Amino acid sequence: MPLTLPSTTDHEDIREAVRALCADFPAEYWRTLDETAAYPEAFVDALTKAGWLAALIPQDYGGSGLGVTEASIILEEINRAGGNSGACHGQMYNMSTLLRAGSPEQKQRILPRIATGEIRMQSMAVTEPTTGSDTTKLKTTAVKQGDRYVVNGQKVWTSRLQHSDLMILLARTTPLDQVKKKSHGLSVFLVDVAEAMKAGMTVRPIRNMVNHETNEVFFDALEIPAENLIGQEGEGFRYILEGLNAERTLIAAECIGDGHWFVDKAVAYGRDRVVFGRPIGQNQGIQFPIAQAHIHVEAASLMRFKAAALHDAGQPCGAEANMAKLLAANASWEAANACLQTHGGFGFAAEYDVERKFRETRLYQVAPISSNLILAYVGEHVLGLPRSY
Ligand SMILES: Cc1cc2nc3c(=O)[nH]c(=O)nc-3n(C[C@H](O)[C@H](O)[C@H](O)COP(=O)(O)OP(=O)(O)OC[C@H]3O[C@@H](n4cnc5c(N)ncnc54)[C@H](O)[C@@H]3O)c2cc1C
Repeated sequence: MPLTLPSTTDHEDIREAVRALCADFPAEYWRTLDETAAYPEAFVDALTKAGWLAALIPQDYGGSGLGVTEASIILEEINRAGGNSGACHGQMYNMSTLLRAGSPEQKQRILPRIATGEIRMQSMAVTEPTTGSDTTKLKTTAVKQGDRYVVNGQKVWTSRLQHSDLMILLARTTPLDQVKKKSHGLSVFLVDVAEAMKAGMTVRPIRNMVNHETNEVFFDALEIPAENLIGQEGEGFRYILEGLNAERTLIAAECIGDGHWFVDKAVAYGRDRVVFGRPIGQNQGIQFPIAQAHIHVEAASLMRFKAAALHDAGQPCGAEANMAKLLAANASWEAANACLQTHGGFGFAAEYDVERKFRETRLYQVAPISSNLILAYVGEHVLGLPRSY
């Protein structure tokens, strides 16, 4: 099927509406949150009330039934406006696991309540401290006992858990030495956070480089009702993987938003700041790195739209989604460096917001997937080279 890039006029109304909402949450808002390590509650509420966080929920369940293309534009605009989608993006892409593998009863029970903002499903617990990127080796177990699963183990970097009513949990239901493939025997569960906190789940916040609410989570004989299993037992890794292409594409869009923010900020400062009797942006040593970053942001954006269009057309998009994530994360980091350098010493002053966005965009080289793992994916699955890990 020939791919057409989304028409910009179709999406200009989305961009304008998200920009208007973001204008109520200016740089000072995000700066204060960063200084006080607080969660952007008012922003997330406003985004939910306006329906943007329900973009990917089908209309039958009270959402707007938009595609990843539109969702990516929403997140891009938030980051482009100086905000940080990391506080709420999980709600968009966690949805895909439930949408693809959840039962009609689960979807009917949960999705309309997420769409109205009554509950949040912002959190997904996959990563573990001892196994890291080697996900299929994770050690958290869920053992079926009658009409319940009993969960024991530990997760790390479980984000937004303290601002979420539901968490998606990946745990091993069949021991590794009893499965044919290591990706088998893992299952996905819906965890009611408030219930779990009273019954065997402990949460310990991790202080980190950015204002990101993320945690260590411990499970000590946590009981989950069997009806909270999503899809088939043992197929959970596949469900998570299927959702990752949307996640990669949406994260790419956030990077692109950041990239534009850095370029715009650097251009404005480069025009205004006069040293040695001329604007610093007149010097090629300042101008060219900004131009180079801009070109890379624009190129990454095209790959993002290609990945999103394939995804929305129901076509395979693993290669494009991964490539978009890598290109966009590199481009935003390049733009961040150009912007910081352009600002000289003032780039380090919190009131310019450059150092905050610089820290925020650095994360995308590591999470939700590190750049090396994307290169390994492209080497193996796109180019057919031997598996390197
Ligand atoms: C702020 C933040 C929020 C996060 N939120 C979540 C969340 O909500 N839910 C969740 O489940 N996880 C979350 N994560 C975890 C994130 O997905 C992982 O940090 C990431 O996948 C990398 O895993 P790791 O940190 O264990 O690194 P490791 O797997 O230990 O890797 C460390 C480094 O070694 C490299 N490396 C490892 N193996 C190879 C190899 N074979 N070849 C080449 N290089 C290799 C990696 O690329 C990386 O650079 C979050 C992380 C952070 C920092």
